[in-house]
Amino acid sequence: MNNGVISSPPEDPVKCTSKNTNCTITNSIGIFPDRSICEAGEVKYPGTEEELISIVATATKNNRKMKAATRYSHSIPKLACPDGKDGLLISTNNLNKVLRVDAEARTITVESGVTLRQIIAEAAEAGLALPYTPYWWGITIGGLMATGAHGSTLWDKGSAVHEYATEIRIVSPSGPEDGYAKVRVLTESDDDNQHLNAVRVSLGVLGVISRVCVYIYFIHFLIYRRLNA
Ligand SMILES: Cc1cc2nc3c(=O)[nH]c(=O)nc-3n(C[C@H](O)[C@H](O)[C@H](O)COP(=O)(O)OP(=O)(O)OC[C@H]3O[C@@H](n4cnc5c(N)ncnc54)[C@H](O)[C@@H]3O)c2cc1C
Repeated sequence: MNNGVISSPPEDPVKCTSKNTNCTITNSIGIFPDRSICEAGEVKYPGTEEELISIVATATKNNRKMKAATRYSHSIPKLACPDGKDGLLISTNNLNKVLRVDAEARTITVESGVTLRQIIAEAAEAGLALPYTPYWWGITIGGLMATGAHGSTLWDKGSAVHEYATEIRIVSPSGPEDGYAKVRVLTESDDDNQHLNAVRVSLGVLGVISRVCVYIYFIHFLIYRRLNA
């Protein structure tokens, strides 16, 4: 008899009957609280910000509802459901690159589909760490920003990762004058932080975040704080 423990990550929450069309989306536990099945017309997998802009522009021009979806879709509520059988899911599965770790500035810049696990691992390579994180490393930076997911502490800016975001790039629907999609680069140094604050916890309704830069700490500083607490 084999007494070993087998574990595997949750299944892909997006399933389609014909390639990337006629799809459904659920969450990582496999059912939404209202027990309904969310249908969507199609899923797209942009691999770059340029592809994301083109997808948002085409969907906007065609008056199509869209929602961002992630690798495991860990949120229990039906946040990622685009509403209506013709809706479009924009998965961030392929927006999965760590773009820059700047040890001097103590920042890490990642695409929005990068998981907490990737961020923690890449930051650690440079001797850096996110001090207080949500509880599961399969969630993405885009998803955790959108929901305000956090760990626990009152130290510094608190435990919500979005409080440490110094720059967010977001692609939103727009009018024909902008080619039906607009990229906004929102930074802490902007005169008016209102837009950055709104995008920090948007529940996914203001557009699709393409890229995030977050402020992180030196690991030895955190150990020092812990030992001297
Ligand atoms: C309101 C709420 C609060 C939560 N708070 C915590 C917490 O404090 N601590 C904790 O550990 N867990 C928390 N969770 C559980 C879980 O950690 C979060 O749901 C987390 O956001 C899941 O991440 P995900 O990558 O799986 O995103 P998903 O569950 O797939 O998506 C969450 C939302 O973010 C949107 N979204 C995803 N990517 C993008 C993007 N690139 N651009 C724009 N929108 C995007 C989706 O459309 C959806 O609306 C919370 C869940 C919810 C619903």
